[in-house]
Amino acid sequence: MATLHQPVRALRGVGPTTAGRLERLGIRTVLDLLTHFPIRHEDLRKTTPIARLPFGRTVVVRGRIQLIATRRGFRRRLSLTEAIVADRSGSLRVVWFNQPYLATAYRSGDEVLLVGTMAATPYGPQLQTPLIERVSARPLHAGRIVPVYRATAGLTQRQLRTLIFQAVAAATGLPEWLPDELRRRERLVQLSAAIRDIHFPRSPAALTTAQRRLKFGELLTFMLAQLAAEHARGTGVAKPIPIDPARTKAFVRTLPFTLTGDQRRATWSILKDLARDRVMLRLLEGDVGSGKTAVAAIALQAVAGHGAQAALLAPTEVLARQHFETLARLFRGRVPLGLLTRSQRAWTLSGRATRPALQRHSRDGSLRVIVGTQALLQPDLQLPNLALVVVDEQHRFGVVQRHALQAQSGTRRQPHLLSMTATPIPRTLALTLFGDLRQSRLRELPPGRTPVLTEVVDANDEARIHAAIRQAVEAGQQAYIVCPLIEESDELGVAAATAEYERLSAGPLTGLRLGLLHGKLPAKAKQDALHAFAAGTTDVLVATPVVEVGVDVPKATVILIEGAERFGLAQLHQLRGRVGRSHRPSRCFVMSSSPSPSVRTRLDFVARTHDGFAVAEEDLRQRGPGDIYGLRQSGLPTFELAGLHDLELMQHCREVAERLIASDPQLERWPLLRQHIRGHARTIHRE
Ligand code: ADP
Ligand code: MG
Repeated sequence: MATLHQPVRALRGVGPTTAGRLERLGIRTVLDLLTHFPIRHEDLRKTTPIARLPFGRTVVVRGRIQLIATRRGFRRRLSLTEAIVADRSGSLRVVWFNQPYLATAYRSGDEVLLVGTMAATPYGPQLQTPLIERVSARPLHAGRIVPVYRATAGLTQRQLRTLIFQAVAAATGLPEWLPDELRRRERLVQLSAAIRDIHFPRSPAALTTAQRRLKFGELLTFMLAQLAAEHARGTGVAKPIPIDPARTKAFVRTLPFTLTGDQRRATWSILKDLARDRVMLRLLEGDVGSGKTAVAAIALQAVAGHGAQAALLAPTEVLARQHFETLARLFRGRVPLGLLTRSQRAWTLSGRATRPALQRHSRDGSLRVIVGTQALLQPDLQLPNLALVVVDEQHRFGVVQRHALQAQSGTRRQPHLLSMTATPIPRTLALTLFGDLRQSRLRELPPGRTPVLTEVVDANDEARIHAAIRQAVEAGQQAYIVCPLIEESDELGVAAATAEYERLSAGPLTGLRLGLLHGKLPAKAKQDALHAFAAGTTDVLVATPVVEVGVDVPKATVILIEGAERFGLAQLHQLRGRVGRSHRPSRCFVMSSSPSPSVRTRLDFVARTHDGFAVAEEDLRQRGPGDIYGLRQSGLPTFELAGLHDLELMQHCREVAERLIASDPQLERWPLLRQHIRGHARTIHRE
């Protein structure tokens, strides 16, 4: 029998090809297979007598093979395997295409389970290409509650199930890390039993029990790690940045606009937090276009003005560059400002700087504000006076990033953290997950904005849309055309965007100045494309969803989103937020050729809803519980099993974690639990 930490190759039936495919799912070891949890289950326990089989619905049949044979079809390459299967109520014709081996693997007299759909054909009713499995004491694929997994090309559900079934045999070796007394008090099953039952439950009740055990485990782990972090923050003292009203007022007066009431309130809360020696953990939520950057700029300026340092982290190079330029404009050369990404560096005071120069100025404290991507998180960047970290549109609130920056700078005091996001998080949830998290919301959009006129269209409307784009350009405005990633192999959208760019330049939009932006362009080219668009030297930017978050070009007033059915609701809202960023009325064309009524309903919803909060909630509702994938950007931690609907269990786990920590802060009585939490903290840091 295979053991937990052995590579999957140790399992029967896994050669190099299958191992490679498993690797694509992130599965390397037997243990990885065990934690590849089903995305759902199908209840295939109930069999239907052959005499009563309905058409068009998945059915399970149990019967005996009376006859099975393969013959070559009329088209030479097609083979046809036919069988007659009977139960006490009647008999049934079954056919499979191109699976000739079935006729040797099974013979008449075998008792089998079949899962498939009945179809009416010219040859009479038949069960077509069903899954087949021999009846046994422990069936895997039918006649039971069957797990369904996230799969990948070349790897079938059947294969995954068979492999995971082998792995489950090794699960008895899984060490239980929950303390026994806690497990008994909470009525939770053993880890090994839960792992077995989450894959192959004997009953719906066993599945629920297993899910509860595993969710409890992951939530408790999260809460304990979280409490440890909160505890560390509580003892760690922050560097207070005293409020300097005169300096802040003077800076705000130089801004090219008047702050909205919400911006003023958020700024004030942040400045008050910064003035304390307790570390700030604050979330700044504001719909697209609400002006989060200006609020951040005021906080950054306050820190710099006091002689301390601050860092601003953006998710992409394009966005880091844009933030850098925005800040450079707002600071007017009065704040030493730097940019550091993998491929670019710059420094405003003395123009372009080399990387070592940038590092030197960071180290000696003369550089006050540094903007960058994850590339900032490198041991050779030191910010000894680091007092504030601002994180834009990243998951997990940037807590990890903040820790990394602190660690590499060797400061004992903890930097304050301001995390900005366009996806609002319900307050109860935020409090449960992060006890000491504070929230500010920008609900108000800057004055003079009108909602983006949104229209659901299809390919027949193209001429009209292109005319609208031309009209905007003639009025001195600009447009985005967003192309989705067409197929999986086109991961970065190169093919999609390039083809569309060429088609439009040659035909419909000829005469306009088109730019192209996709994920595969070198950083410099991306930057140039965006620059040209921001500067108005291109009229239309043809792009992949790279422009989704944050890009700010106020003169853009038209956006066409092609293949809109491929985007989530929140993503569409984000994309639409690229226009309507000034007083100019803007339009959004949501284009889809999908005939599906449910697609139409979703797109119509976005067209009439302009409130990001409502869109986010609907998005969540449609995705259903358990799937918070689309919320990664929002700062929520992602759990394997628990979802937003598990709020009660989250609250309970937080209480349990608080009690555990209160009675034994270092978890000394529970070494296995402590070890587990540490391992968990390490995996977070690796992300
Ligand atoms: P987001 O919250 O989506 O990150 P930004 O910070 O990029 O939004 O701001 C969107 C646009 O609104 C920018 O062009 C910015 O200059 C402008 N803006 C921000 N605050 C105001 C304001 N109070 N009045 C007018 N325009 C503003
Ligand atoms: Mg932004």
